Amino acid sequence: MSGETPGGPVRVWLGLGSNLGNRVAALRTGVAALIQAGLEPEAFSDLYHSRPKYLPDQPPFVNAVGRFRTRLTPLQVLAAGRAAEAAAGRRPRERYGPRELDVDILLYGGRRIEGEGLTVPHPALAERLFVLVPLAELDPGLEVPGLGPLSGLLSEALARLPAEERVVSLGRFEPGRGRPLFPPAAPAGAGEA
Ligand code: AMP
Repeated sequence: MSGETPGGPVRVWLGLGSNLGNRVAALRTGVAALIQAGLEPEAFSDLYHSRPKYLPDQPPFVNAVGRFRTRLTPLQVLAAGRAAEAAAGRRPRERYGPRELDVDILLYGGRRIEGEGLTVPHPALAERLFVLVPLAELDPGLEVPGLGPLSGLLSEALARLPAEERVVSLGRFEPGRGRPLFPPAAPAGAGEA
């Protein structure tokens, strides 16, 4: 699933993470802000518990990955992510430190982007189980541009990374908290003879 048809909307996969305050509420606030900015949600992974990877002395994270469709450019998606972080109350702190919300562009269609301030696929994607596991739950057949099949990246990461980096599912992420974000499913049996 490369996610792109010429002239049409593009599929983007965003990584969401929080380790301060009400972490699930921060993810929900972020999703609402992303929708407001022009990203249409298609599907979300479960919520995952992960230990902080780079600066260990901070609270654990809740992570999820969302798949969206959008006509926004990559830089507009980056700006939407920053707006979502601000909506969740993120304030500037040290790199890799605690944060109310982090939004990363993991994939933008099948594109590779190397620009000022934006690299896609996300440069740390292959070294982060808190990204690889939810991404593989959502779209196990994905090809990561320049890196190959997601399934291979995941098995390599599981073999190589320390056990402390394993993530644990916390169950379904319901970003709309009861309010439907997705079009209602057709009733069972609809369209059948
Ligand atoms: P952080 O909020 O600590 O994840 O860092 C965000 C910074 O990383 C932003 O200033 C972006 O310009 C830069 N960046 C580079 N590539 C990406 C990407 N794929 N997704 C999100 N931020 C990115």
